Amino acid sequence: MRYPILSSSILDAIGDTPMLEIDGIFAKCEFLNPSGSIKARIAHYIVERAEREGLLKPGDTIVEATSGNTGNAFAMVAAVKGYRMIVVMPEGLSTERVAISRAYGADVLFCGNFHVNEALERARALGRQPGFFFPGQFENEWNVEENREWLGQEILRQLPEGRVPDAFVHGVGTGGTLIGVGEALRAVNPNVRLFAMEPSESRTILCGEVALHRIEGISDGFVPGIFQRHRDLVGRNTVSVASEDAVAEMRRLARTHGLFCGPSSGAHLLAARQLRERFPELETIVTILDDKGEKYLHDFFMRAAPNAEKPLPFH
Ligand code: PMP
Repeated sequence: MRYPILSSSILDAIGDTPMLEIDGIFAKCEFLNPSGSIKARIAHYIVERAEREGLLKPGDTIVEATSGNTGNAFAMVAAVKGYRMIVVMPEGLSTERVAISRAYGADVLFCGNFHVNEALERARALGRQPGFFFPGQFENEWNVEENREWLGQEILRQLPEGRVPDAFVHGVGTGGTLIGVGEALRAVNPNVRLFAMEPSESRTILCGEVALHRIEGISDGFVPGIFQRHRDLVGRNTVSVASEDAVAEMRRLARTHGLFCGPSSGAHLLAARQLRERFPELETIVTILDDKGEKYLHDFFMRAAPNAEKPLPFH
């Protein structure tokens, strides 16, 4: 691990996360990033790129639409670099992620409910004002580029000697992780199969369904621009996981592996296991543990004996 001995910035601690082999699946521990999720990478990458290209200048305001983690990540980067940050997000998602953005000094603007569509329109409109920068994670190719050049390369370096990735499975929020990491893996194995994981209640990629679910951060209410542009890479490869199963697996991971992650991490591992059963020829399956369980304390962990069998109440 390459941590700088002395640094003045938490941003230097982004990346170089461990990769674990969990029950035969390779899982990259992105929840260990500063700000608590995989999104620290794109926030850092996009901000520095925008600075270099002159799109972001001292005194500017960053405004982004998010289901939460990207807001936390940009709020952290903005705090370090002295920008004002406005996080635009729907109501009805984990309250911790609202509080975390505020802790980093961001203003949080609520727009819409559960799905990110309205927040996206609002952030885009605000971003057109002078002195504002709108990263536009759902459409920005820098999102894909970061995942290909940084996260994707790290994953390739961490696979055991002689192992070539056969499959990568990930939910689609922006699609940046699935597509960007997918491109990196495809460069070493042209036959690698890429699978979009979707909540079984809301299979937007597979059949245009949009519904409530509990795997926050994915299936945000629309097919994002990044996924639309690159969907040929994935084809019709989707795996669905029910919210209840994702949450039960999230709880199991903490209790049996000491991995306290969010629902998408549970869903990713279940999806990877489904793939292994359906396609035994896939020997090396890679996925990601995206964010920390602490971001969902109120939703899932405050009762003494949570009963995973009970249907989950929606907000
Ligand atoms: N899981 C979690 C917890 C997330 O926050 C996100 C991103 N919102 C994703 C998965 C999906 O990642 P991407 O945006 O790269 O598709």
